[in-house]
Amino acid sequence: PLAHAWPAQQPGGPGPSGAPEVPAVSARGLTRVYDVPGRRDARVVALDGVSLDLPAGSFTAVVGPSGSGKSTLLHTMAGLDEATGGRVSLLGREITTMPAAKRAAFRSHSVGFVFQDYNLIASLTAAENVSMPSRLAGRPLGRGRAVAALEAVGLADRADLKPHQLSGGERQRVAIARVMASRPRIVFADEPTGALDLSAGQVVLTWLRRLAEQGTTVVMVTHDVEAAARADTVAVMSGGRLAAWSETRDAARIAELVHSARTPARPPAQAPVLGAR
Ligand code: ADP
Ligand code: MG
Repeated sequence: PLAHAWPAQQPGGPGPSGAPEVPAVSARGLTRVYDVPGRRDARVVALDGVSLDLPAGSFTAVVGPSGSGKSTLLHTMAGLDEATGGRVSLLGREITTMPAAKRAAFRSHSVGFVFQDYNLIASLTAAENVSMPSRLAGRPLGRGRAVAALEAVGLADRADLKPHQLSGGERQRVAIARVMASRPRIVFADEPTGALDLSAGQVVLTWLRRLAEQGTTVVMVTHDVEAAARADTVAVMSGGRLAAWSETRDAARIAELVHSARTPARPPAQAPVLGAR
């Protein structure tokens, strides 16, 4: 049943302590089926049994054609969306069976998010945005640490500006500073460079790499093969399944993998619509 296990078939070797290493992110048979509004018996299988294990400190890019289930995979692994079937464990804790409030508390302590549209709060300054997750988690950062995080991404002098006063690249760096300040053990990023020009995108990728080097587990969805080439491992999605994975750093090779995921004999590249025949 672990047909798409990656690298779940290579069990984690003993860690430095001699104990088996627990993957930071682990999914088994993860499935997400959406109802189609207005079509009572039609459903979209966005995620069709994905299994994977991501070691602590790994930097994984999730690529694949549009509609292949990349965002759904990220959101269900992060516990932002409920899986229809299967299991997800983060840092050895199964989140799929956790009560919603407990899951939210766990998330706010251990998981950070970077999204294409930054998810900054328009009415708050950059520094206030950076300290917001810690406030929600009930242990607010001092202004000093919020400004230090902004300084680390070169934005100390923008601490008191609001998102509309910042460029797209600066906003995304605020989002990165926000993640860095709360020091989560796992970061999920969905198209973090999607709205940025090349050089702003490079800055964001450099910071994601740096987080991984410091031991944070980074999972990044991207359609940009150059961005994917900055990760340690590339997971290729196709039709809701994990079609391939690779450790290549070659953008052209990643483009080939995405292309062959787009035109498979089976499964179909489009998420199949069930019950709609
Ligand atoms: P990707 O991020 O790879 O472009 P998504 O994970 O966003 O793909 O979507 C996978 C499939 O699931 C698509 O066919 C999409 O239309 C469908 N889908 C995603 N979210 C929903 C939703 N909330 N309701 C219904 N269908 C959805
Ligand atoms: Mg998406």
